[in-house]
Amino acid sequence: MSNSTPNLSSRCAIAQFPGIYKQGPGVLAELPALLAGLRAGKALVLAGSNAWAQAGRTLAQQPGLIHLPFTGECTSAEIDRVARAAREGGHAAVVGLGGGKVIDTARAVAHCAGELLFIAAPTVASTDAPTSATTVVYQADGSFSHYLRSRNPAAVLVDTALIARAPVRFLVAGMGDALSTWFEAESCRRSGAANVCGGLATLAAGAIARLCYDTILADGSHAMSACLAQVVTPAFERVVEANTLLSGLGFESGGLASAHAVHNGLTRIPGCHGALHGEKVAFGVLVGLVLTGASSAQIREVLGFCRAVGLPVCLADLGCANPTPGELQVAAEVACASGESIHNESGGMNPARVLAALIAADRLGREFAALKPGGN
Ligand SMILES: [Zn+2]
Repeated sequence: MSNSTPNLSSRCAIAQFPGIYKQGPGVLAELPALLAGLRAGKALVLAGSNAWAQAGRTLAQQPGLIHLPFTGECTSAEIDRVARAAREGGHAAVVGLGGGKVIDTARAVAHCAGELLFIAAPTVASTDAPTSATTVVYQADGSFSHYLRSRNPAAVLVDTALIARAPVRFLVAGMGDALSTWFEAESCRRSGAANVCGGLATLAAGAIARLCYDTILADGSHAMSACLAQVVTPAFERVVEANTLLSGLGFESGGLASAHAVHNGLTRIPGCHGALHGEKVAFGVLVGLVLTGASSAQIREVLGFCRAVGLPVCLADLGCANPTPGELQVAAEVACASGESIHNESGGMNPARVLAALIAADRLGREFAALKPGGN
């Protein structure tokens, strides 16, 4: 998928959505009835061992639901392996149960195995992957490979009781992913670049992206506390919706820009491999703000939010305290690869500009953290 398609064949607005979105404590128990309603009698449930152990009580006894363990990375080889199992098993649907990578893999499998129904059932709110039609495919070593576009899920089941019991780091990473949504949508609106659907953003997409930003800023800290206590509260529900639905609709129908391109560059730095998608995206937001000349007030607001919820503000926070000049150069070049979403920013982007922004953002973040200790 190319994210930067400024020469739209027609200036039409496009938005894409999942068929059904359900969120609340216990909604995963509705999966068998949902599949029956969609006339999908036999479904392959792709899930890692942790997710299956958590959800197993709900699903393991259901006839027609066959569990296949996920091997841990969304690679072309893993997609082929699971697609073969789905075809050979005669499944009508593929359910991705777990985090972003398992959901992405299940989406690609549903597409590659012959347009099977795809259901997303996240057990963490760590990315906005569940609602979209985009799969991020990685190399076996965890570095970014390519995007694969298919279809939005027929249904998304977000069981907030399960998500509240997941480690808080996942919820925080989801806020990092959600933090990028409005900034990237705004960049596309300003430059007239295409959204991920290949059209202009609707008014709805812009409003959803802004609501996503406002929600995590208003409720992020409270949602974190609820998650640490493993309970579901209204603020927790709002942040889960922001991380999952608002961010998902906002990025896909609003558009991507520098933050996700910088994320893709950071995946080439070995020291960052332990960081989650949303953690790298959050730092990508900071780099993007420096790159696009955002106001100091805006940068301070983002830095303050990141510190309050424990998102990274510098490369050391991502696990890479001393990157080599060569590693930073590669990251900048990968961020500026042909077709990357960074080219949706105005003004023409190149590796030299991105490298300067990376270095400056890292320093700004370290200085801010030194000024305002705590929050991490
Ligand atoms: Zn993302």
